[in-house]
Amino acid sequence: MRLDGSCHCGAVKFSVQSHTPYPFMRCYCSICRKTAGGGGYAINIMGETDSLKVKGEDNLSIYRARIKDEKTGKRKLSTARRHFCKKCGSALWAWDPQWREWVYPFASAIDTPLPKPMEEVEMMLNYAVPWAEIPNGSGHAHFAEYPEEGIADWHKKRLLDVP
Ligand SMILES: [Zn+2]
Repeated sequence: MRLDGSCHCGAVKFSVQSHTPYPFMRCYCSICRKTAGGGGYAINIMGETDSLKVKGEDNLSIYRARIKDEKTGKRKLSTARRHFCKKCGSALWAWDPQWREWVYPFASAIDTPLPKPMEEVEMMLNYAVPWAEIPNGSGHAHFAEYPEEGIADWHKKRLLDVP
């Protein structure tokens, strides 16, 4: 399906094709929380980079986080490029050259009505702040860091990938 997205001020608009539009994955890492996550988390979905069309590209800015290596203690620049509107600050999508065929829009930036997931994943809980409400019980799977099952596999296993 085609997803249309935009920033809050309207300076950036984009569209992308997605087979995996269910916004089921909540990320509680500090980068998502600080750059996009009012509830303590942000939700990434997934689209195809080849289909990404952007209007107002001049208004984009890119943030690359510095992430501390747990083994060496050194900080290194994340390969992920977090794209946001430099006029209003809206987080729009992440793109990483390691997985260049995919682009990861934030569900919060998508204007197309997304299907509501019947199950959710809460991940990066090692980094969640104490005040964040973390839903529990059936339909919720919790992970300290990344889940083994990625966004594409999650959709396939539940027969939810959209042609
Ligand atoms: Zn904007």
